Amino acid sequence: GQCAAVCPTGAIIIKNDSHRLWKELNQEDTIAVAQVAPAVRVAVAKEFGYNGENVMGKIVAALRRIGFNYIFDTSTAADLTVMEESKEFADRLANGGKLPLFTSCCPAWIKYAENEYPEILPNISTCRSPMQMFASVINEKFKGEGKKILSVAVMPCTAKKGEAARDEFKDENGKPLVDFVITTQELIMMIKEAGIVFNEIEPEAVDMPFGTMTGAGVIFGVTGGVTEAVIRRVSTDKSLASLRNLAFEGVRGFEGIKELEVPLGDKAIKVCVVNGLRNVEVIMNRMKAGEHFDLIEVMACPNGCIGGAGQPKATIDEKKERSVNLYNADKLCTLKRSEENPLMDKLYEGILKGREHELLHVSYVK
Ligand code: SF4
Repeated sequence: GQCAAVCPTGAIIIKNDSHRLWKELNQEDTIAVAQVAPAVRVAVAKEFGYNGENVMGKIVAALRRIGFNYIFDTSTAADLTVMEESKEFADRLANGGKLPLFTSCCPAWIKYAENEYPEILPNISTCRSPMQMFASVINEKFKGEGKKILSVAVMPCTAKKGEAARDEFKDENGKPLVDFVITTQELIMMIKEAGIVFNEIEPEAVDMPFGTMTGAGVIFGVTGGVTEAVIRRVSTDKSLASLRNLAFEGVRGFEGIKELEVPLGDKAIKVCVVNGLRNVEVIMNRMKAGEHFDLIEVMACPNGCIGGAGQPKATIDEKKERSVNLYNADKLCTLKRSEENPLMDKLYEGILKGREHELLHVSYVK
């Protein structure tokens, strides 16, 4: 059966899905596929006596012991999101489309907009979140193999459980494309339940054929990351120095509202990065008073997904450490820009060919 776990913010009772998941794993007729979101990798180690360091390799190894056949990194699909969202943004800029463009990867923000600001829904990007984009790609890849696909997403987020259950994200038979969303806390529990000695487990790499990602995809886990990744993609000056300037210029950092102007061709675009839903109201009021923005990133959780409600509780210093470790992971990536991910061309020429709209986009407009 199911059991309930209390959300660390104390606000809601969330469902714990790990018990149900155990029953579905290690079945002959099932291909079990896991994807792991960026913010998870910097929030697991503390539980096992380390600091907030990036333990993605150990998480991959643990998931394999737990019974997954394929393990992928949601950063890979974040690259896909950057490709699609940049295209959409450039298109809206060039053709007088609805601006500002709001990001769409946070399901708690989508729900909030649906309830509080339905008039803004046409401004929200039609891109599915990285989790749902990956779920589509995984489904297309494995559905011809004659086995049941068990598609699991390990997320820092409790709202992702609701996203996975939305009607928009079901296959032609009405089955959700993501079968289970497991929070970071539930993953930690499963690692313990499996009797894995986390400190001793050797790191492993994620699997092919979706085994490449860029730094742009990894920084999705922290507030400002989506914006930085999109700007890396669309900005005309592609040098590393310009990327660094951008970082210092204010897209990074924990402030609830960050604003910057980014030169794009002969114009400057106005960008805003918001975290925490209370700050959304501030920006909405400013827009009602006549202010213009071109691109607005919204993450419902203070500090972005590193501070998600599915993560182990953390102090502000610990959250900072998580963000530093994600930026360090970006630094260590040879590839910084989503279009440099060699998998992108392969996907666009293969699984996605002529089906980008069907597999990667969604409309929340009623
Ligand atoms: Fe989930 Fe919070 Fe990230 Fe939104 S910001 S996707 S609610 S963890």
